[in-house]
Amino acid sequence: MFFLPFVRVIVWCFFCTIMAGQSLSITMDDGPNLDATPKLSGDERNRRLLEAFREKHVRVVLFANGIRGGDSPSGIRWLEAWGKAGHRIGNHTYSHPNLDEIGVARFKEDLLRLDRLIRPLPGYWPMLRFPFLLEGKGVVERQAVQVMLKEQGYGSAPVSIPTYDWFFNQRLHSLLKEKPDADIAPVRALYLQHLVGILKGHRDLGRKLLGRDPVHTLLLHHNLLNALVMPDLLRMLDSNGWKVVGPEEAYRDPIYDEDLTTVGYSESHLGAMARKRGVLLKEIRFLEAQLAVEKANLKEYIH
Ligand SMILES: [Zn+2]
Repeated sequence: MFFLPFVRVIVWCFFCTIMAGQSLSITMDDGPNLDATPKLSGDERNRRLLEAFREKHVRVVLFANGIRGGDSPSGIRWLEAWGKAGHRIGNHTYSHPNLDEIGVARFKEDLLRLDRLIRPLPGYWPMLRFPFLLEGKGVVERQAVQVMLKEQGYGSAPVSIPTYDWFFNQRLHSLLKEKPDADIAPVRALYLQHLVGILKGHRDLGRKLLGRDPVHTLLLHHNLLNALVMPDLLRMLDSNGWKVVGPEEAYRDPIYDEDLTTVGYSESHLGAMARKRGVLLKEIRFLEAQLAVEKANLKEYIH
C-alpha cells in the first residue's frame, strides 16, 4: 500500500510530460507579401493574420523578404506592425534566392540586404529561414554557410513540421480565378484535414525518435489561404491538444542545436535527425507518401 501513491505520481508525471509537451511555435515565411491576390488585398491579409493571432494571444515569427512589397513604405509599416504586436521578425533573405544556384558569397549579400531593412524594426531577430529550406548542396557548402551565419551573429531556424500550405494556396488561387465567388469551404476542410494528419505524424515521429515531445516548429506561409483560415487553424490546434508557444521558446529546444551539416537536405529537422541515426526510415517514407497522396487528392478535387 505504501508505494501506491508514489506509483500514481510517477504515472501522472509520465502523462503530464506527454500532454504538456505537445507544443509548437508557428513560423510564417514570405511576409509581409503585398502582392495582389483574389478576395483580399495585401493590407487586408496582414490585418487578418495579425487580428487572428491577437485574439488568441499567439506570438509567431515572420520570416521576411524584401520582394513582394517588403521593402516598400507600406511593407515596412506592416513589418513594424508585426513587431509592435509582439511577433519576431526573422530573415528569409531579400530576394528569396536558391542557395544551390547562387553560392554562399552572393547568398550572404542577399541576407545582409534584408538584414539592413529589418534590423531597425521592433521584434528584429537575427535568425535565418533558408529559402526553399535549402541549406547547401554539399557538406563543404553547408559548413561554409553555417560559418558565415555565425560571423554575422545569426542562427538558423529549421522546421520540424513542414506542410503543403503553399500547394493548397495555389489550388485556392486557381479555383478563385476560375470562379471568383466559389465556396472555399471544401478547400478549408481539406487543408485543415491535411494539417491534422501532418501534425500527428510528426508528433509521433518526435516521440519515437526522442522518447519525448520536442517543441515543434510549424512551417506556414504568409498567403491568402492562411489569412482566410487562421482563426479556424488556431481552433484546430487547440482542439487537437497543441499548445502554441513563442518562437524563442521553440528554438531553445536542444534538437535545433544538433549539427546536421553531414546529412544533407531534408524538409523536416526531425527527418534529418532520424536519417543521421539511420532509424525510423520507414516512418519518414510513410510521412512523405502521405503528403504526396494528399497533394494528389487535392489536385483531383480542384483542377
Ligand atoms: Zn519562402
